[in-house]
Amino acid sequence: MAENIVLVDGPHAGELWSLANAPYLEEIADCLCDDHPCNLVTVRKSQQTGASILALGWCLYIADREPANTLYVAPGIDMLRDLNSAKLQPLIRAWHKHIKRTVIAEQTSRSGAGSTTYEKVFPGGRLWLGNANSVMDLSSKTAKKGIKDELSKWQDIPGFGDPETLFEGRFTAFRRLKSYKILEISTPEIDTGDELGEAAGHCRIDRSFKRSDQRFYFLPCPECGAFFTHNPDRFQVDEARPHRSVYLCDHCGHGITETERVAALKSGLCHWRPTAPGPDRHPGFHIDAFISLMMSYEAIAEDKIKAEKRGEKGRKDFTNLTLGRPFRFRGDAPDYEKLMARRDPEVRRGRVPAGGLLLVAAADVQMRGIWLEIIAVGADRQTWTVDVDYLDGDTSHPMGEAFQRLRAATIDRTFRDAWDRPRRLDALAVDAGYRSHVVYAWVRNNQRLHPDTGRDLILAVDGRDGWGHPAIGTPKLVDIDLDGHRVKQGAKLWPVGTWPLKGSFYADLQLQGVMSGQPANPPGYCHFGAWLDEAYFKQLTDERLEDVIVRGRVAGRRWVDTGNNHLLDCRVYNMALAEYLGLSTMTPQDWAALARARGLPDELSKFDLFTARSASPEPAEVVRPPETATPGTPSEPEGDGWIKPNKDWMKR
Ligand SMILES: [Zn+2]
Repeated sequence: MAENIVLVDGPHAGELWSLANAPYLEEIADCLCDDHPCNLVTVRKSQQTGASILALGWCLYIADREPANTLYVAPGIDMLRDLNSAKLQPLIRAWHKHIKRTVIAEQTSRSGAGSTTYEKVFPGGRLWLGNANSVMDLSSKTAKKGIKDELSKWQDIPGFGDPETLFEGRFTAFRRLKSYKILEISTPEIDTGDELGEAAGHCRIDRSFKRSDQRFYFLPCPECGAFFTHNPDRFQVDEARPHRSVYLCDHCGHGITETERVAALKSGLCHWRPTAPGPDRHPGFHIDAFISLMMSYEAIAEDKIKAEKRGEKGRKDFTNLTLGRPFRFRGDAPDYEKLMARRDPEVRRGRVPAGGLLLVAAADVQMRGIWLEIIAVGADRQTWTVDVDYLDGDTSHPMGEAFQRLRAATIDRTFRDAWDRPRRLDALAVDAGYRSHVVYAWVRNNQRLHPDTGRDLILAVDGRDGWGHPAIGTPKLVDIDLDGHRVKQGAKLWPVGTWPLKGSFYADLQLQGVMSGQPANPPGYCHFGAWLDEAYFKQLTDERLEDVIVRGRVAGRRWVDTGNNHLLDCRVYNMALAEYLGLSTMTPQDWAALARARGLPDELSKFDLFTARSASPEPAEVVRPPETATPGTPSEPEGDGWIKPNKDWMKR
């Protein structure tokens, strides 16, 4: 961006970055200048677009040309630390070197009073970096300019509510004169199905984009000359030869090639068009891989092919990170008879299969009796049902019959693995939604730390409806009230975001494996033994997603059940436990180490067996130079900084 922004990482680190590599950023930059009347700019983006450097570049521009107190907020301490040390600090240093003067003083870290804020001082203002999860960081400053980074990952703060409301409170002083300016920028998350994006849990950046004038980037077709914006449905993936993938022109149907795409993007004819203009609508921009010069049709096709193999999780990542769009779970229940037809006689009851590196159990407590499902989970999210049971008996007391049977069937039980060696459970979840205090007391009385992980073996869990909750959240301490005795903060209660987990599980159930004649079992595939009966499959497939209609419009989607879905609840809690144990966060090295610790033979515990799943997109955006750049030819560093003030800042 401008010849003033220096690449901070990637193979061309230290070289200057030119607007020619991301022409679509120019108009966004114009909107951020003081002489543009808007107060809010929304950028809904994919990864690998250079858009994240926009926010950092704006901070430097503010410090140099339009000084004001600025609050930059990102979700999580780790992201904040990385933002500061890996991106902003090197950028400031390289920029100072380039302009041969110092604008921003060396950083001071203010970590007192529970604040995670980093502070940078420049003539006429300060830049604060704050954590979106910290009430402290969101509630003390007064700022005129602000950045909401990775907005879709901002979570409600327990007891304080919406972090966006807290953030906006920082700008109250400038609200009357409408002289503040906020940039929201994020890859999207979940589409609840709400047409206006207002349903709880709807992706935050998409909600704001829907309220904006919704600008899309238009390119000229090389064949007919008409302008089009990429519609993902018209992208034709060539699976065998991804480099031959083309986009079909909306107007003439011509198959636009990668070479033609790059030429169109560099033609100088491309432009933004608002698709929902209106007097009360602020500028909102959609940036995806199709208009990024850091991506190509081939790379997009490869991402898509890879994503399809990873099931619903892969499709969600592709939609969010490559297409820059929110993801909508399908949620159609698979046919239970089809699932029964592909039961596998080799999946034996009570036996942990070779690939089942995690062993978890979940219990759903009823008035009389407890439903129980035990599953094994592999590194690529394949699952095997190890046991299913209904433990009949009194549940009104933690010493009751059903709870004694639960103990024997789970934490006191020794399972056998594929080599007939003993295995124990890695974690047990007990639903505390019904008979809460009995469950709290039982969990407390039986709690122990897992010898390998040092973490709680038993989790009292509480299912949360809605799309915006993580698979497993932060536990809270709850009182136990039983038989007139009260134990203050005697148990931990773990919230489980059930809706996205259900969506993923239903998509996994649709996957076809070896039992259906496929050459291999795909990641996420669910294995069922021949010993499982119809009632089990009926319970698993009991729910479906239904549109919520409010005043004649679709206002979201919710899960609807017919009342007999206890084993589906158990499965959802089991998948939450797998996440608790690190299913999505463990590296190939971690999995290989776990496989060795589980005593798997050498040929099954090698590091490279687990590298396939590391192909998932990187969490942080890395700014890469465009493929079209000539290697070893840096852009010419010239000029002495922001030559032209105001809206030309991107160019120079
Ligand atoms: Zn055309």
